[in-house]
Amino acid sequence: MRTASEWAALDLAHLWHPFTQFDEWEKQPMLVVDRAEGMHLYDVDGNAFLDGVSSLWCNVHGHRHPKLDAAVRAQLDKVAHSTQLGLANTVAIELAARLVGLTAGWDQANFGAGGEPPRNAPPALPRVFFSDSGSTAVEVALKMAFQCQQQRGATHRTRFAALDQAYHGDTIGSVSVGGMSLFHGIYRPMLFEAVRIPCPERAGENEERLLAEAARLFREHGDTLAAFVFEPLVQGAAGMRMHSPAFLRALTTMARDAGALLVADEVATGFGRTGTLFAMEQVGVVPDFLCLAKGLTGGYLPLAATLTSEAVFAAFRGPYTEWRTLFHGHTYTGNPLACAAALASLDIFAEEAVLEALPVKIAALRDALATLDHPCVRETRQIGLMAAVVLGDFPVEARIGHRVALACRDHGVILRNLGDAVVFMPPLGMGPPDLARLVAALRAAIDDVVG
Ligand code: PLP
Repeated sequence: MRTASEWAALDLAHLWHPFTQFDEWEKQPMLVVDRAEGMHLYDVDGNAFLDGVSSLWCNVHGHRHPKLDAAVRAQLDKVAHSTQLGLANTVAIELAARLVGLTAGWDQANFGAGGEPPRNAPPALPRVFFSDSGSTAVEVALKMAFQCQQQRGATHRTRFAALDQAYHGDTIGSVSVGGMSLFHGIYRPMLFEAVRIPCPERAGENEERLLAEAARLFREHGDTLAAFVFEPLVQGAAGMRMHSPAFLRALTTMARDAGALLVADEVATGFGRTGTLFAMEQVGVVPDFLCLAKGLTGGYLPLAATLTSEAVFAAFRGPYTEWRTLFHGHTYTGNPLACAAALASLDIFAEEAVLEALPVKIAALRDALATLDHPCVRETRQIGLMAAVVLGDFPVEARIGHRVALACRDHGVILRNLGDAVVFMPPLGMGPPDLARLVAALRAAIDDVVG
């Protein structure tokens, strides 16, 4: 068995970590994860760390949940992988039907008014295309939207509108609709241009003025748009920027009026993160595409889904020689192991009343964050169990957010920063005492770094 430093040396010799400057990575202490249990990750020396970021926003019910473990094991006894190209498989079929059912009643009158959508109503988005990451879920939606418009005869609709500071993934299409110049600036010559719709940093802030500007942009460019792409309610990667449901409702109305399709990217917000199963339930608008990934399998295996309407699907039907087919697919599309995990995760939502337990946890996190009265805390932002503590004001080179996030580990907690915003994205299964521990660890880490 290797020691911690041997693991670290091997990592440094061979790995290229995502979003990581190696010159820094090789200088900082390395936490090498060996196993996990419930809300904790354990390093190779057996030290426990509370997982405050759900292993990058995807773990939902905790690690090694018995029902998830059992579902993946049971599927292993049947088939681990079989292609969706030319074949179907039972678990992908069952999962598609379950996901589609979650959009039942979305087009009913009470949708978005805080009421439960009637689950026996027809699904608003009855078609599912599986892929394997959030980026591909968005990439697929972009290609579908573009091709749909072309095949409906709207050949002038070749562009996309997207929010300022958007993040939709790292493939070229998803980067093109992304709006974070730090991540995406260098790739500009490789990208297609998007119409950039302004968006607030905090819900309610300048929304009227920004809507007036958005209206102008939709008036000017609307008839060139294939679709409008957005992260509903929370722009996660931008540092948990937040806007109100009413703001997004107004934007989607403008986009629809301009003839654009709507792409809701719920890769981060999906599966309970904002307090409802999907953020769009609070917005009360039925999108043409719903992009899901991250929490879809409870955070177990890579799987993504792009849901769409029968009307969009219809634009792709016809005789083979009309070439209306969506020529897109990934090798592991509809992977049975991942689909089995996703089905088990949905079962847990129902059997363990996960959503019903959220209000207490959301309030507990809010209460804990309210105790953070340190002079370095510029503000806290929270919707559901998505939150950020923004530290300020420090020069970029001080790397305060990064140093504070690292210092949290000395207090047994894993948090991650986006610039000077320290992000909280705990598993939905985390209880109030552990949520309070996350905040207490952050407080101690701020004291360690800033004093
Ligand atoms: N869309 C949103 C809103 C995201 O937050 C992310 C990842 O953080 C993605 C897309 C990309 O997902 P993935 O990293 O699985 O490609």
